[in-house]
Amino acid sequence: MKNRFLCPSCRADLKIKNSVIFSAHTTGGNKGLVLFSPELGNYSIVHVPGFSYTEGEHIDFFCPVCHANLGLPEKGKDLARVLMIDSKQTEYSIVFSEIAGKQCTLKMKEDTIVESYGEDAGEFANFWGAEPRY
Ligand SMILES: [Zn+2]
Repeated sequence: MKNRFLCPSCRADLKIKNSVIFSAHTTGGNKGLVLFSPELGNYSIVHVPGFSYTEGEHIDFFCPVCHANLGLPEKGKDLARVLMIDSKQTEYSIVFSEIAGKQCTLKMKEDTIVESYGEDAGEFANFWGAEPRY
């Protein structure tokens, strides 16, 4: 996969080899680096041994370079976003769930969902075209 993943704030590349790297903070106070697969819809997460979380826990994700919070509060309190640039140099937003175990990834161009991945994507797709419910 030749896609690049960038921080929306500082545009640093977050993909090294075959992993996308984030700094993560759990609600329970755990902090650590986590590695995501750059393959959209692949939810295997690698993390440092000292970092742990429980299913259903909210995890805040941060850029490991500029430490910007990748959360997307204007769309949903449990959503985060990174940029993806594909091999045709087209830029997309990749929106994903901040709830551990929730499988939801949206590939978006401007404000339109291009593709969605994961078995929980349906409920998150409602954030577009509908007002957030809180
Ligand atoms: Zn950054």
